[in-house]
Amino acid sequence: MPAPRVRRPAAAKKPARAAVVLAPDARGKRRATAILDRLEAAHPEATCALSHRNPYELVMATILSAQCTDERVNQVTPVLFARYPDANALAAAVPEDVEEIIRSTGFFRAKARSLIGCAAGLVERHGGQVPGRMEDLVKLPGVGRKTANVVLGHAFGVESGIAVDTHVFRVSQRLGLARAETPEDVEEQLMKLIPQRRWSRTSDLLIFHGRKVCAARSPRCGGCPAFDLCAWDDRVAIATGGAKR
Ligand code: SF4
Repeated sequence: MPAPRVRRPAAAKKPARAAVVLAPDARGKRRATAILDRLEAAHPEATCALSHRNPYELVMATILSAQCTDERVNQVTPVLFARYPDANALAAAVPEDVEEIIRSTGFFRAKARSLIGCAAGLVERHGGQVPGRMEDLVKLPGVGRKTANVVLGHAFGVESGIAVDTHVFRVSQRLGLARAETPEDVEEQLMKLIPQRRWSRTSDLLIFHGRKVCAARSPRCGGCPAFDLCAWDDRVAIATGGAKR
């Protein structure tokens, strides 16, 4: 999944978003549930797109996905994990060797530092294993709340929060599920509206919907399964071809 392409998403750009946002009361929660049900029906195949076989691989793949497509990460990780199959191996890696493997994902020097540092943290503090708790994960180099949410949700089945990447940030605000300037605030608002058992799934669905339908520049409002539940004013004009973002 795309990391926050952690660019404080469109926070500074004032992303297109609904004028109104759902309140975390019974009515707002019903509406949020209806939106998620609609997205679930439309995108049953939505899931984490980062290839991984265990928590170690998912942590490292998620770190690599910052400012990079999942497809690109999936091209790189088979080579990375063949050479460094576990945290012990990666912790002992020569930075330049890791950089060479992950170069195409961008920001490769910083990412190599994060990967090796994270692996070292796993070895030193957790016996080489990925911990299943938010408070432990976010203390590892390169691991923020978004990455921890992805790992906990997909590798441990723990509903710790809602991973907010650039798609979740944009789509949730168009739909009127949130209205905020930072991913952290968007996550907090979503968590108040959505039942905990659906948190991880919410991220998957909003990311998938953002990629396939509610794209940043050219949303396909006319074919959107949540059109009648969406709060974004421009959707009608876009659906009828009468407006641009
Ligand atoms: S109606 Fe348009 S803006 Fe609203 S969720 Fe669908 S695609 Fe996105």
